[in-house]
Formats: sequence, structure tokens, C-alpha cells
Amino acid sequence: MNRDLIASILPELVAIRRHLHRIAEIGLSEFETTRYIGDVLERWGFVLDRSYATTAIVASLQRRSSTKTVALRADMDALPILEETNLPYQSLNAGTMHACGHDGHVAMLLGAAYALSQDADFSGRVVFIFQPAEENFGGAKMMIEQGFLDHYPVDFLFALHNMPALETGKFSLRRGAMMASIDVVAVTITGRGGHGALPEQTADPVVAAGNIIVALQSIVARNVSPHDPAVITVGQIHGGSAATIIPDKVELEISLRALSPQVHALLRQRIEEVVVAQAQSLGTQASFDWKVGYPATINDDRAVDLARAAIRSTFGDDRLEDRAFAMMASEDCAFFLERIPGAYVFIGNGDSKPLHNAQYDFNDDILADGALFFCSIVEQALAK
Ligand SMILES: [Zn+2]
Ligand SMILES: [Zn+2]
Repeated sequence: MNRDLIASILPELVAIRRHLHRIAEIGLSEFETTRYIGDVLERWGFVLDRSYATTAIVASLQRRSSTKTVALRADMDALPILEETNLPYQSLNAGTMHACGHDGHVAMLLGAAYALSQDADFSGRVVFIFQPAEENFGGAKMMIEQGFLDHYPVDFLFALHNMPALETGKFSLRRGAMMASIDVVAVTITGRGGHGALPEQTADPVVAAGNIIVALQSIVARNVSPHDPAVITVGQIHGGSAATIIPDKVELEISLRALSPQVHALLRQRIEEVVVAQAQSLGTQASFDWKVGYPATINDDRAVDLARAAIRSTFGDDRLEDRAFAMMASEDCAFFLERIPGAYVFIGNGDSKPLHNAQYDFNDDILADGALFFCSIVEQALAK
């Protein structure tokens, strides 16, 4: 039934996906995107709630009397990347591109919304979340802070993300940590600048920064258990103006990722200790500006079992992969999954360019199965 309904609108879903690709917009600026999504949903009879996170759209369906609620979430923002695909539906907004496939996530969720709106075969409530600003501002966090979960008490939440290099249409998930937490810290090393020929009169923040970068590598190697994944990356270093001048300060920007709160706390503590000690050894000082990060994305056991049952019954055993490892990238769906049991699931995008690459494109061959996955979850979780 759902399969036939989705098949009947598949050409429209492809057209929707490509239109969204064309009008790609950055997080919290998804105005044209949400006008378009809203028009489609209203045409299908949905009443929209636009009260959250500037551009979020929430729609819901109630069948029979059960108050049990399943939320289905799609992110819808694009990235600041100049597209190099030369596709006929290439982004019209130069420098902004759907390079993470959120155009496809929206189209899959719309397909599910259409099919479920035509189908009365469940008991309870389905809440469709079209969420802004996954990539930059934590749209999920904003929605929660603005009371979304108070107005929509949700029992389970599910989200899909396409995954390049995973076989087309294969579903992949695991219990527990699915993706890592991320924090970013800006570090300023302040010394005493001077003439490059008179180092003895200075406190050199360049040498301090060099020692810090090397010393930071010992944290994952020597302080974290080999059984606990963690990553520390120094992604930026800025300082100085000429080869003959020792500058007053050097700035570093560091990202840290972990799967557990314990390792997360350990990384934060050790980074500060190592940076301060190294800076002091050269007579320089360190200061820290911690930016708000995303927590780890943790899948709930019962939700994973529901998703697995839905995938097996709808697509067969060979379409399900039990994922061995968490991915060390991060995802703001983590904020929802901190508060509500749920599962974040990958669907294979096949042999495509990687996410966040200027030549990436979402694979339209997985649109129908993504939509059907959401429908099947609802049937499993809200069985009559
Ligand atoms: Zn992304
Ligand atoms: Zn993404």
C-alpha cells in the first residue's frame, strides 16, 4: 500500500529533490526552501506549525485514539560550497550547495508524509520535523530550547542520512553511539614579540604553538584507552607577519571528538593542562575560548530494534548492515536523541563523491526506499 503510494508520486519526489537542490540555502536562511516545502505539504492537506527555530516546519498526522507519538526528522540546510557538478539542476545560489544530501532527506520525508496521509493503517500520532541549520547553528537544539518537545511529547524519533560509499539503498545502524560529539576551542598563545635576531629578549609564541601541537598528539595516544575512540585535530594556526619578526601571539583552533561523556570530559581537561604547561615552559600564556559543540549521537536499543524490524520486513535481511563502528563525524540530531529515545540511520548513497564535496550529489534511486523506511517505522512503532 505505502509502496504503491510512494511509487505513484516518485517522479514528483525526484522533481522536488532537484528543485530543493537548485534553491540551496544556508541554515536559518532556508526561507525559499521552507516556502516550497510548506506549499507541497499544504497541497497534500497538512496544517503547518512554523513556530520553531526561524525556518522549521512541523506537520503531524493523528490516526485513531492512541497518544503514542513517533517523530520523523529531516534536515534541510545546505553548505557554503561552490558547486562543481555541472548538473542541470545545479544550485542557483552560487557558493551555496546541497553537498550533504539534505535535499534528498527532505524529499524522502515528504514522500513518507504523502503516503501516510493517504493511509489509515496505524494508531497514534506521527510528527514530521523539517529541521533547519544542522550544519552550523544546531537547529535541533534551538527547537528544543523553544519548547518543541513540550508541545509535541514524542515517544520515539527517527532520522535518515545518506552515506556515500555504502551500497545503494543499504541501511546501516548500530546500538549506542552512532556518531561522535564535537567541541571546538580557540586557543591564544600570548608571548612577547621582538626582533627575529634577538630571541633571548622575547617569549616566542610560535615555538610554544609548535610544541603544543606536537604535545597534543600524546593525549589520544597516552591518556585515552585504546578501546575508546577519540580525535583531536588542530585545524587552524595563525600568527606572525614576517620571517624576521617574533610575533606577540599565535592563535590555534582545535576540534575534539569522542563517543562517551567521560572521554569528552577527559579530552577537555587534558587539552587545557597540556596547552598551559607547554605555554608556560616558554614564558608564554594561554587563554581558551570554548565554543558550544554537539553531543554524541546515541541510538536507543529499542528504537534500533524497531528500525531493524522495519528494514527486515520491508526490504529483506540483506538490506540491513549492523554497523561495527561509530562514525567520528557529528550531527545535531544528537540533541533530540539526548532527550528522546530514537535511532539515527544511514542509507547507502552508492558510489558517489563524499559528503561536503563540491562534486557530490544525492542519489535519487534511494528516494522511494527512504520514504518507505519511514512509513515502515510508523507501522512498526504505531501498530494498531
Ligand atoms: Zn553535512
Ligand atoms: Zn548532513
